[in-house]
Order: sequence, then structure tokens, then C-alpha cells
Amino acid sequence: MATSTIPITVAYGDGIGPEIMEAVLSILDAARVPLRYDVIEVGQKLYDQGYTAGIAPESWDVIRRNPAFLKAPITTQLGTGGKSFNVTVRKALNLFANVRPCKSYAPFVASAHPGMNLVIIRENEEDLYAGIEHQQTREVTQVLKLITRPGAERIVRYAFEYARAYGRRKVTCMTKDNIMKLTDGLFHRTFERIAAEYPDIEAEHMIIDIGTARLAAQPERFDVIVTLNLYGDILSDVAAQIAGSIGLAGSANIGPRVSMFEAVHGSAPDIAGKGVANPSGLLVAATQMLVHLGLAEDAERIKNAWLCTLEDGIHTADIYRTELSSELVGTAAFARAVIARLGCTPRQLQPVHYKATGIHAAIGEFPKPSKALVGVDIFLDWDQAGRDPNALGAALTRHTPTGWQLKMITNRGVKVYPDGLPETFCTDHWRCRFVAVQEPIAYAEVLALLNTLHAAGFEIIKTENLYTFDGERGYSLGQGE
Ligand code: NAD
Repeated sequence: MATSTIPITVAYGDGIGPEIMEAVLSILDAARVPLRYDVIEVGQKLYDQGYTAGIAPESWDVIRRNPAFLKAPITTQLGTGGKSFNVTVRKALNLFANVRPCKSYAPFVASAHPGMNLVIIRENEEDLYAGIEHQQTREVTQVLKLITRPGAERIVRYAFEYARAYGRRKVTCMTKDNIMKLTDGLFHRTFERIAAEYPDIEAEHMIIDIGTARLAAQPERFDVIVTLNLYGDILSDVAAQIAGSIGLAGSANIGPRVSMFEAVHGSAPDIAGKGVANPSGLLVAATQMLVHLGLAEDAERIKNAWLCTLEDGIHTADIYRTELSSELVGTAAFARAVIARLGCTPRQLQPVHYKATGIHAAIGEFPKPSKALVGVDIFLDWDQAGRDPNALGAALTRHTPTGWQLKMITNRGVKVYPDGLPETFCTDHWRCRFVAVQEPIAYAEVLALLNTLHAAGFEIIKTENLYTFDGERGYSLGQGE
């Protein structure tokens, strides 16, 4: 039966990129994987031509029309005002999931955790990385942490679908929702809701700090980990480090239409052009791509042939050890050794088995809750009266119009009025919570309140409306409220 080919975008990159890409494509071709390649140029040459993101405009069309992009490492421009190519692609193409398997290949590659075999799936676009930061007073800066319901749903669903496609048994969610009940809480609740749709997969939740400690001490107990952007960023570096195989690791950036696959390592300019680089990281990324595209059988055959090559001690210089290896090979000879083992099953290392379902992570429809305005947090820059909260409280109360009540004032989240403690340190940034005497209240009343306070000489630096959703509070209480 004739199989139609899937077009993918290929970039040979910089440094060792061309050598390892050639090796990887030779393996895909020898395995007769039904792919065809649209080659684009990205990286150094394009930066040198003045393209600040390292890519020419016409190449975007190629990337956008194909479902997958296999990318060799590129050399990052330093200090020239150029933008990171990876960050540009990730943001422009809505690559919402970052997938980083961390596995040890002991005893063939030295590792302190021989049984480690986990994958970290990290939300890739939201959280503190939305990059919305402000300095509001002389002493205070802030960043907004944004967690959305569709964003959480998509990444969590992706993690469960990934677990199914890769025959994994457990998904662990890590958040800090004991502190951040609304943002991390939304992520955790979404996890619980979606986990119920996957009864075949075990689901557990850990607080991120305890989870990270457990990961460092006992990585063998984890299978798939799903978490928010910042936690996942830190966690994947911890995991990669302790696996001892960062040079063999691939990673994926998954989007709804286009996904990008690459080695974790960089362009290794120190060994470029010598024919000694290890193509394994990019090859592992290519097998991730095949599973993603629904070509599980091809991925399985190639990955098992690669495991056999490692097992047979045929190693490139980066992993060669006289006591573990039998033959030192260069990039091309390593690729030939993998090709010669297509169809073989590893004896000692665990053979891989993937399910041919592909991975889909659709976002469901959400019922829209009713939303009511019930108050407003007004943030002030105030540096008078020795920063005495009671003086501020009294002054604000004098100017509070009818229909509003000053409920409390907090400083760095701690309630300082009414009934604060004299020990609490106060900076020049005050959150003043006004609630409507009668709920709901019209936004025009918020504007009237702001006008009154402004006219009375208060410096308002920002406001946050307080809403309820289906009667549930959509804002946190102040510590001590
Ligand atoms: P690197 O990963 O390129 O190299 C670190 C060390 O590991 C070097 O000694 C190198 O020789 C070795 N090494 C890396 N890959 C190897 C391989 N496949 N086989 C054998 N040895 C290998 O890290 P670096 O030197 O910090 O970065 C070099 C360049 O790559 C920088 O410009 C960096 O910004 C860029 N980079 C790009 C990506 C990417 O495109 N995704 C990722 C990381 C770094």
C-alpha cells in the first residue's frame, strides 16, 4: 500500500548542526519514514544578513504550512540587539507545551540515577513569562502572573494524551496552590478535572517545593510531570542535570498547528566541522516528532536501533569510556551503526513502545459563569506620616463616599489596617480594599471613588476590580483579613 508523505520543515543550523542533521536524516531515510523535507536557512547567516530574529520572512510561510519543524542548534547572537530565534518561534507559533524527556542510559552512559526515566511537560507561554512588569513606587516593582483556564486545560490534557501515546502510567502535577490559591489553584483544579477523564493513568499532585526535593532525591518515582512555566523551567534543568545524559536529550515545543523538535544541547562551535559530534540528541528529538505525527512504528524502530547501538558500545567521543565502550566512532559512522541495527531490539535497555494515536489536546467549551463587581483594590504610592497605616486609614475613611466601605489596607499583602501589628514592615506601596455596601456595584461608582480620592491628593498607581463569579470570590483575602 502506498503511503503518502508528510512534509516537515528542516533547518541545518550552525556549528555542528549540519553534521548532526545530515546523520539524522540519513537514518530517517534508511528507515523509509514517509516524510519529505522543506529545507530553510535560520541562524548565524541570517543574523549576519541583518535579520534580527535569525530568520527570513519567507521562511515563516514554510514553517507555518508544515506540521513539524526539525531544527538543528543555532548559535545565539550575543550583544548585537538580535532576538532569540527560539523565543520568537515559540511565541509567534503558539507553542504552548515544552516537552523534555530526561532519561538515564546506565550502565552504557554513566548516571547517578540508573532507573530514571521521566518527562517534564511545562506550560510554555503563560505564568510570569508573559513579561508584564512595572515599577510602581520608588521602592516597589511587580510582575503579573497570568494563568488562564484554556492554557491550563490544554497543557494538562496534552500531558495525559502524551502519557497514553508513550505508554506511560502516571502523571504528577506540581503547583504551589497552598499559597497561590487562585492562579496555581486553577491549574491544580483543572488537573483534577481532566485526570478524571483518564482512569487508565494514575494522577497525583505535589506542592512544587516538596516535589522538586523528591525529584532530586528519587527521580525514579516519577513518570510524567506537568507544571507551570517557571516551575517547569527550573525542574527540567534539575532533572536534565541528574540524569547525566543531557547530550543525548531531545526536546519538543508543541503548538496547535506547528511543533518544533530539537536537541537540548547547543551548536558546539568547539567541535564543529570535525565530524565527531554525537547526533543522538537530535535523533531522539526526531523520534519525538514521529510519535507526534502519528508515525509511532517508525519512531519505535529507530529508537530501538539507537538503544542497540548504545548497548553495543558504539559511542561518539562525548560518551566514550574505555570500560563501557567497544568502538569510538564519528558522527557518520554512528549513524551507519544505527541504520545497521534497524529492526533490532535492545537486550538490556528497556525497548520503547509507542501507541500510534498521535497526540491531540483540544480545549473544551466552558460554561460562562455570571460575573458581578463587588469592590475595588486601589493601590497607592503613599509616603507620609511616618508610613503610619492608621493615619492612612483615617484619611481614606474621611474621603470615602457613601456606598463604599474601606474594608482594609495591606502592605506587601499583610493587613496593616484596621488592627495591624506595629512590627509589620511597611513600604511605600499600599493596597486599599473598598467594598460596595450594596452588591453588585456599577463601575461608574468605582470611577467616582477614584475621582474623589484623586481630588483629595492621593496618588493612585493602579486598581484591581473585585469580582465574584457565580457568587464565588474571584480575589484573595489579605493575610490576616
Ligand atoms: P553547547 O551545548 O553547544 O556545548 C557545550 C559542550 O558540550 C561543548 O564542549 C560541546 O562540544 C559539547 N557538545 C554539545 N553538543 C554536543 C554533541 N552533540 N556531541 C558532542 N559534544 C557536544 O553549549 P554552549 O557552548 O554553551 O553553546 C554554544 C552555542 O549554542 C551558543 O551560541 C548557544 O547560545 C547556542 N545554543 C543553542 C541552542 C539551540 O539552538 N536550541 C541551545 C543551547 C545553546
